[in-house]
Amino acid sequence: MVKGSDALGGGVPARAPTFCTAINCLDGRVQLPVISHLRQRFGVDFVDMVTEPGPVGLLAARTNVAAVQSIRERVKLTLERHQSCGIGVVAHHDCAGNPVTAAIQQQQLRACVPLLREWFPALPVIALWVDEHGVVQEMG
Ligand SMILES: [Zn+2]
Repeated sequence: MVKGSDALGGGVPARAPTFCTAINCLDGRVQLPVISHLRQRFGVDFVDMVTEPGPVGLLAARTNVAAVQSIRERVKLTLERHQSCGIGVVAHHDCAGNPVTAAIQQQQLRACVPLLREWFPALPVIALWVDEHGVVQEMG
């Protein structure tokens, strides 16, 4: 095994580790699918995880200012300290934190993308939907 090739195994990479960022639900079912998708999508070793219950509901409504600000600050930290190279924002089937229909969640998900691009113009932002089978789909 090439040293550093298996970052998830806890080995010390031969080069500086690379990161991207997920704004994800706290739901345990979606963690591994999102990590796996984003590692491959952005070609990084690690995915920094900013979790909230149903973050797209919070970001689309923007009424809970403290929660929105907290998400923004945590994403900013991953950029500043880990040189995160991309952001994935996530919604998923059967979200306890955002109990609205899939169609509304997907609408909220799409609405988050311009906001995140405005906040973090240097980074690519992608929207991810995790379906009832744990399959990750990019929605723009
Ligand atoms: Zn959820």
